[in-house]
Amino acid sequence: MLASREPAHIVDLDLQIVAKKGLWVTLWVTLGIFVFDSLIQLGIQQELTISFSFWKVLFVILGYIVLIVVHELFHLLGFRVFAGVPWRKMIIGVNLKLGIAYATTDEWMTNAAIRKALLLPFWTTGVIPTIIGLYLSDGVWLLLGGLLIGGAVGDFAMYKELKQFPDDWLVKDDPERPRLYLHEPADCHGSSNT
Ligand SMILES: [Zn+2]
Repeated sequence: MLASREPAHIVDLDLQIVAKKGLWVTLWVTLGIFVFDSLIQLGIQQELTISFSFWKVLFVILGYIVLIVVHELFHLLGFRVFAGVPWRKMIIGVNLKLGIAYATTDEWMTNAAIRKALLLPFWTTGVIPTIIGLYLSDGVWLLLGGLLIGGAVGDFAMYKELKQFPDDWLVKDDPERPRLYLHEPADCHGSSNT
């Protein structure tokens, strides 16, 4: 793919703002999910049972860790399916200093493709566990769904920024920071790097 030499725009997320927003979204979404589940239960059974146990807390903690990894894997699957990035070009890791898990590649992706890859984990690790939780009326799944939906706030913030630019623009991820470089597609006569 040919791209302009200099980025036409840089999307740079402020992690502190994203983290704060993520916390509030997690809180409200989780509360909303539990209220919704309670209403369904009241509608079906005319009674509401709430129970806590050590095992449930443990399942939430373990499930959360597993789903964070799965969230990142779905970004990679998105890079593969939507942008055609080869598996060997993908990197997954944890940045303890920034307190984030990340999935990245140094390949070019179109703006349209990376936007789909950004939101894929929201559906698979946020919405699906929530639906399972509502179907089973299971607090562990409901809480995991809420946590993972809240965890997708950074992805949505990126998505919103990217949405302002044309679909065919080319995007490169920063290997270290939550930052994306947007390049205009170059024509054959223009400067290029592949
Ligand atoms: Zn993500």
